[in-house]
Amino acid sequence: MKKEENNLQELLVEEMRDVYHAEQQLLKALPKMAKAAQSERLKEAFERHLEETEQHVERLERAFEALGETAKAKTCKAMQGLIEEGKEMMEAHKDSATADAALIAAAQKVEHYEIATYGTLCTWCDLLGLDEASELLKETLDEEKTTDELLTEIAESEINAEAVSDKEEE
Ligand code: FE
Ligand code: FE
Repeated sequence: MKKEENNLQELLVEEMRDVYHAEQQLLKALPKMAKAAQSERLKEAFERHLEETEQHVERLERAFEALGETAKAKTCKAMQGLIEEGKEMMEAHKDSATADAALIAAAQKVEHYEIATYGTLCTWCDLLGLDEASELLKETLDEEKTTDELLTEIAESEINAEAVSDKEEE
């Protein structure tokens, strides 16, 4: 049993290093997304989430410390792919009424990836009795969920309707 617990903790640290890198990539991508957003609300949402993302990086560093591990980043290929695809979408829909809809689609894929990751990390921390790390990661998980909900709300209240009405006018 002891051996299995150790393995899960190793896996936990490995995944924390992965999401640590993912968050660092987002620190670079979010300002570009905020700049590209046409809707003022969407721009603000990205700017606010950039500030939160700085906290996500910090919380991970505190969680590494709580586990007695060094904060090291391991290349997160999934986030590289999500950002790459997001860039392509932004390019393809630039300066059109669908630009913001495309941005939100890309951003929500990112948030869902983060929600899945942090959800798993919290479960593992709880299983291993790592309360401090669990609390830190749960705080971040909540912010990712709130951001996802806010993006849905913005999409439903203004962006998608605009994209649709633009099509009707053509
Ligand atoms: Fe994050
Ligand atoms: Fe996020």
